[in-house]
Amino acid sequence: MDSIEYEKRTITRGALKYTGKAKQVYTTDDPDILWVHYLDQATALNGKVKETISGKGELNSAISQLLFNYLTGNNIKNHYLHSISKTDELITSLDILPIEVVTRNYASGHFVSKFAATPMQKLTPIVQEFYYKSDALDDPFINDSQILALNYATNDELTKLRAESTIINRHLIDLFRQANIQLIDFKLEFGRTKNGDILLADELSPDNMRLVDIATGNSLDKDVFRKHSGDVTVGYQEVLTRLQQII
Ligand code: 5GP
Repeated sequence: MDSIEYEKRTITRGALKYTGKAKQVYTTDDPDILWVHYLDQATALNGKVKETISGKGELNSAISQLLFNYLTGNNIKNHYLHSISKTDELITSLDILPIEVVTRNYASGHFVSKFAATPMQKLTPIVQEFYYKSDALDDPFINDSQILALNYATNDELTKLRAESTIINRHLIDLFRQANIQLIDFKLEFGRTKNGDILLADELSPDNMRLVDIATGNSLDKDVFRKHSGDVTVGYQEVLTRLQQII
């Protein structure tokens, strides 16, 4: 499919703008709108390990659309506009900040390996971290003064990233709890509109959040791929099915 009706007009897909680790982004004939295609691809270690996983694109696209719609319903401004197909969607074109915002409710992953924290220790207050988005540099940790000195974001924008991430965390914790899933941690990305508004961007899927089944303690996220402990799509399908039952 190369075009879609959206808000009483036809949006046509244009050139491939960018291929990410799990998505392709195309321009459209509207400069403010991009066309995203989810790939059946999984990567770990910032792209150094890569594998094709059949059905993953559809699952991530479906989960992401459900979560963006849920957050839109809770007044969180974001880039998601419209579903095109099981793997494709329209989003607002943004100037993406080169910052990953990680929020942690429980100790896991790099928080455990870097700080010798006890795995799954509850973190009070919640932890918020910024990383500089660069595969070549392995997404290094970056602090406020480094971000300001390098002009990656303004002070007001950093305040907004923290506040938005805190609110999004509360909404996602609530939602996943209803699905009997514990939200351990997650990574968000944000971008600027032409008017300078900050919108939530990227995708919201088990590729960028840790989710644990409260009943079994099983991982339902990309850790299964990172640790080679099974078929990731089983957990992703479980997340999707449970979310569909409650949203
Ligand atoms: P950690 O820093 O422990 O590796 O990751 C913390 C959380 O952020 C995890 O939920 C992880 O999936 C997510 N995350 C951190 N960096 C990235 C990244 O570069 N890509 C993706 N997809 N997720 C990330």
